[in-house]
Amino acid sequence: MSFIDLFQKKRKYATVPSTDRPVNRAGESGEILPEDKPKREIPEGLMNKCPKCATIQFTKELEKNLKVCTSCGYHFKLSAVERIQMVMDEGRFFEYDAELISEDPLEFPDYVGKYRKAVDATGMNDAVITGEGTIGGFPVVVAVMSFDFMGGTLGSVVGEKITNAIEHAMQKNDPLIIFSTSGGARMQESILSLMQMAKSSAAIAKFNEQGGLFISVITDPTFGGVSASYAMLGDYILAEPGAAFGFTGRRVIEQTIRQKLPDNFQTAEFNLKHGQVDMVVVRKDMKNTLTRLLDLHVVKGEVANGK
Ligand SMILES: [Zn+2]
Repeated sequence: MSFIDLFQKKRKYATVPSTDRPVNRAGESGEILPEDKPKREIPEGLMNKCPKCATIQFTKELEKNLKVCTSCGYHFKLSAVERIQMVMDEGRFFEYDAELISEDPLEFPDYVGKYRKAVDATGMNDAVITGEGTIGGFPVVVAVMSFDFMGGTLGSVVGEKITNAIEHAMQKNDPLIIFSTSGGARMQESILSLMQMAKSSAAIAKFNEQGGLFISVITDPTFGGVSASYAMLGDYILAEPGAAFGFTGRRVIEQTIRQKLPDNFQTAEFNLKHGQVDMVVVRKDMKNTLTRLLDLHVVKGEVANGK
């Protein structure tokens, strides 16, 4: 879809709330608007317990604090929609490829049922939402993954949407920002899932050759095929505090090497210290940090990543 097509096409407007009603359910691409947000359904009801410090706080207070624990700063997971509302100007976003769904090509037992359940629970059609909008006034192409859709696993739909987003960024010569969170490859799609790593990485290499700017943002947790492909390929790699980020989980590594690993192993801070992450950014500063980076690289509408 070219830039022109995108805007000539009649836009479908969909309100994308936190969750208790489906996101973008029209089955077509559409703009996500901030108004008319129903409250997110939280099984615990009015209160939330912090998994890190066990402080109990009002859900409303927690949401006001961008879902960061008011006591210890623990960053709760966000849905893709919540994140879009937090970082995009006016919470607005024009979505790409909303209609893509997996076809269960391998007829993997119970995949269709699990997939359907995830669609119903999240209102998403797969584990990523991609599209375009502005951040701090700068036009950007953005992909945001959601862990609550089958653990943010990378299947053929996620890979295709990410690759399409990269290609949109390339055509428009706009910066690309991907917020990753993933348990890894989607086993129900086997090799078709693994090939998404190569496909998205090849697209990023091309984007990079063209001089495109790619900012990768790691959120909790990011593992497996996603960390071993696009999440690691950013010109900048930012991470939220405490975000677990690695390839294999700590238990598997400990059992393999028969050694105890440090407590903060694979956290954003550990990765910062060891050079895998460029900056750890608290949620309330994320939008400003992205704006600053965009401002550094976008000169009169032209993007330069220094290459
Ligand atoms: Zn806490």
